[in-house]
Amino acid sequence: MTIECSRRVNRVTPSATLSISTLAKELRADGADVIDLSVGEPDFPTPAPIVEAGKTAMDAGHTGYTATTGVPELRRAIADKLAEDGLGHDPDEIIVTPGAKQALYETIQTLVDDGDEVTLLDPAWVSYEAMVKLAGGTLSRVDLSPFGFGLADGGLDALAAAISDETEVLIVNSPSNPSGIVYGVEALEGVRDLAVEHDVTVISDEIYERITYGDSPPSLGSLDGMADRTVTVNGFSKAYSMTGWRLGYLAGPSSVIEQASKLHSHSVSCATNFVQRAGIVALEDVDEPIDEMVRAFERRRDLLVDRLRDAGVELPRTPEGAFYLMVPVVGDDQQTCENALADQHVATVPGSAFGTPGYARISYATDVARIETAVDRLLKTDFFER
Ligand code: PMP
Ligand code: GLU
Repeated sequence: MTIECSRRVNRVTPSATLSISTLAKELRADGADVIDLSVGEPDFPTPAPIVEAGKTAMDAGHTGYTATTGVPELRRAIADKLAEDGLGHDPDEIIVTPGAKQALYETIQTLVDDGDEVTLLDPAWVSYEAMVKLAGGTLSRVDLSPFGFGLADGGLDALAAAISDETEVLIVNSPSNPSGIVYGVEALEGVRDLAVEHDVTVISDEIYERITYGDSPPSLGSLDGMADRTVTVNGFSKAYSMTGWRLGYLAGPSSVIEQASKLHSHSVSCATNFVQRAGIVALEDVDEPIDEMVRAFERRRDLLVDRLRDAGVELPRTPEGAFYLMVPVVGDDQQTCENALADQHVATVPGSAFGTPGYARISYATDVARIETAVDRLLKTDFFER
């Protein structure tokens, strides 16, 4: 007998980023020398003061449930951080979640009804599509690849053509996974104008906000006219190299937070108690290790971009943030990435997983020597479009 599962879950496929990295791990366990450029996970340890804070909190007995939306001290620390970004949220307009993914999930479930239109800027991170489909929403996708993945030089016009009064929600992710593009102030103001004109709610996923190599643009919700229509999502996974700790948050207008809290209380109850305590130390006391990590990512970005351009690979634009690069690949991107993993033992993610076929995403959250070897292997075969 096969148990019939819901139409809801049947609508979606597993996360491509996580599936490929699982495949890479399996190959490695079988003895292959796999270089995993697929998953977006910093290769640095969690900074020691954060680890210490977690241990201390456990020893001090912070092992029970917390207030559903998070321990007050952490919500206060998050509110202070957001205030520095120009966002005026009280601690009770913040929900602490087990990872930004859960924050996005709760936000989308809270905002999107059956048939509601949600706009994505492609290439867009894999889970947005799945989360929207799980909520019953419909997708309108704006392909930014003809505009170097950015909103300047025509990108904003393409967004304007896609957004209408029918649009309920727009998801913006800058710095972007998978393109590494950072939208500048003008682009964000353009997004703001469209959101206001068509009365659209915006989810601003700012999880890569600390990882930028040039200017740090403003938080979208801090722009005039955006406070009442923006839900800001952020997390500790990338900036503090805390992927396995599972800690993130959403901040937004109290009407949204009130509704999302119900979902939160009926699903996860709260984020892990001692992890939340460690999060306070991350926000309040840890800066230098982050700056070092970002400098290391920048060196790798430079190396990768230079090597690929020298080899004749046309990169639409040099990414200014996160730790990803979209590269044009030959043939069917799914097949090309599968071949690269099977034959060259290099794992990358096909662009079609992000809505832009013809590309592959490379994550450079790997040490320089491994990146060099991976590029050597890929350049020996028909992988890059040149
Ligand atoms: N948003 C983006 C754009 C991401 O790349 C990720 C990566 N996992 C997340 C959200 C979720 O991160 P986490 O749940 O680990 O906080
Ligand atoms: N966000 C990371 C990535 O895109 C981690 C995996 C995931 O959550 O999708 O690779």
